[in-house]
Formats: sequence, C-alpha cells, structure tokens
Amino acid sequence: MNPPIKVTKTNDSSLSTIDFNNIPFGKVFSDHMFLVRFDGEKWHNAEIRPLEKLQVHPGNLAWHYGQAIFEGMKATKLHDGTPALFRPEMHAKRLNASASRMCMPEIPESLFLEAIEKMVRLEADWIPPAEGSALYIRPLMIATDEFIGVRPSKDYTLIIFTMPVGPYYPKPISLLAEEHFIRAAYGGVGEAKAAGNYAASLYPAKMAKEKGYDQVLWLDAREAKYVQEVGTMNIFFVIRDKLITPITDGTILKGITRDSIISIAKSKGLFVEERLVSIDEVVNAHEDGSLTEVFGAGTAAVISTVERIGFRGKDYLLNQDNYKVAPMLKETINGIRSGRIEDTFGWVKPLLPEAIQA
Ligand SMILES: *Cc1c(COP(=O)(O)O)cnc(C)c1O
Repeated sequence: MNPPIKVTKTNDSSLSTIDFNNIPFGKVFSDHMFLVRFDGEKWHNAEIRPLEKLQVHPGNLAWHYGQAIFEGMKATKLHDGTPALFRPEMHAKRLNASASRMCMPEIPESLFLEAIEKMVRLEADWIPPAEGSALYIRPLMIATDEFIGVRPSKDYTLIIFTMPVGPYYPKPISLLAEEHFIRAAYGGVGEAKAAGNYAASLYPAKMAKEKGYDQVLWLDAREAKYVQEVGTMNIFFVIRDKLITPITDGTILKGITRDSIISIAKSKGLFVEERLVSIDEVVNAHEDGSLTEVFGAGTAAVISTVERIGFRGKDYLLNQDNYKVAPMLKETINGIRSGRIEDTFGWVKPLLPEAIQA
C-alpha cells in the first residue's frame, strides 16, 4: 500500500511575479514540493507542501559518498489547456534502474506517478502555455542517514520540485571529442542518472570550454574510439540519409528523448541504426561529404544541433542550412507534446480534472 499524499497548499504563491516570456532556465521554482521518506523498509510520510529549504545534518550520507540520483521530465499544456505528461512511466522505470545500481530503494511506480500527477495538477498554472515551453520536473532521491562510513544508507528522501522553462531555442553547439578524460567505463555507472557522473564531467568540460568548445563529446573508456554521448544529451548522426546513434551498452544514459526520436524517425520511414559509431567513421563521413547532420537529444533542449566537432586539433564544420532531419524531429516531438500533432505512440498522458476522471 502506498502512503497517502498529504497536501498543504501555499497561501503565498509567487506565480504572479513570473514573466513566462522571459524565464531563466533552472532558477525559477514553482510553489510546492513533494517529499516522501524511506526508512529501510517502506516509503512513508508522503506530502506536498510549500517549497522551502531543507535542514540537513553535516553527516548526511549523500553529501559524503554520493548516493544521489535524479530525473528530468516535462509537463506541457495541450492546446485546450489540459496539463499533460510525456512518457512519465519511462522516467519512473529509469529512476528505479538508477536506484538499483546505486544501492538505493526503488519507489513503487504507482507512488511516483501519483506524486508527479498531484504535483503537476497543483502547479498547473505554472505550465507556460507556449509550444516549446514546459514545466520541467526534477525528481531527486538522496541518502539521508546521518553516518560517516562507506555503506548504503538506510534512510532516503525522494523530492520532486518543478521549474517553468520558456521555449528553448538552443544555438548550434560545438563539441570536442575527448581522448584523455572519460565519462563512463564499462561496468561503471554511466547508465545511471547519478549525481556523481556530472561532478566528474565538470573538469573535462571546463578544459573543453577553454579550448573554445561548448561541450565534450565523450568517447569510450577502453579505446577512446567509439562515440558515447554529450553532457546531458544523447548524440545522433545523419550519414547517407541514415539516422545513426550509439547503441546503449551500459556506458550511455538511456535517453527517453533518444528513444522517442528513434520511434518517430522510423515512423517517418527513415533508416535508423543503433550501433557502435567510431569517431573515425564520423570524421571520414565528414571528409567524403556524407555526414550531413549531428545533433544532441535530451529532455531539456529536446534537440541541439552541432555546428563543429573538434578532434585531434582539427575542426569539422557542419552547415546548419543542410539540416532537415533534426528540425523535423524537433517539430514532431514538440507538436506531440502540445497536442498539435496526433500522438500515435501513446506517449502523452493528459491530466484530466480529477472529478471527471473518477
Ligand atoms: C538525462 C540525460 C540524457 C537525456 O535523457 P532524456 O531522457 O532524453 O532527457 C542523456 N545523457 C545524459 C548523461 C543524461 O543525464
């Protein structure tokens, strides 16, 4: 049995101070947060209450040994104003996969989904209506034992809080294919959305920025040969009109945008290959002119096109005017999310008013 979710509403909403046409990403938070605790055996004390700072003991296990995982998903408004979630059960499953790898407790999918739905219903007025904008939902699970010593925590807290994000028009990005630093090794935690993965990526990303690139294009840890992914996005290539993306081999985060893009591309009759992609293949395809598009895919930006890849001191430029596949895919995903394009995949979950639904 899932614990009932107690709801305490704010009487001090900050919604009226927000300009939906000008929202800085990741800095503006909605009024409430969801919390539920795990005591070593069961999830208990589920509640939604006004967003506030949490008190944390200095010995909090997550701070020292890194048991911390998260998710990132979006709620949008359909054209009739109904709030809708995008593939929420996929996020529940991935959170639990991350939890299991990090020795953290799984949360019943039904409890996670109920919490997300209750939060989004309560914060529905925080969902910016313009297509391409959304309410970004951040679930976070952390260890909370007050204990110094390396072992799995007994207690955990799962928090869900949300942020409105404006329509995102990412500039084309430049990537540095990195041969020295790695993101994830076989047998490691690359497939988990674990906080430590991002901490480990900061230094190489800083080095790449100093060399004039926006982000790192990660290569495999064994041979520095096969392309893995980018920062918080999976990577796609269009070579000879085929859509090619690295296979998920345990080192790559299994992006839900990645999965959606593959399905949409197939439904449009594109040839899609999930396989090993070597950086040499990318460079050769660029040199013989068959590489026409490179783009990253993830929930935050949906799709970011790549304008330049650096590898071994050479830059490989991509002409943005030639991009056809990436804009079509982005258009389709955003259209499905807003209800403008029919959702033939069953991805969009409208949150109808509870009274009508019952
Ligand atoms: C979250 C994330 C992605 C993208 O996953 P989506 O489910 O599409 O948002 C890709 N790579 C990394 C490392 C990530 O953390």
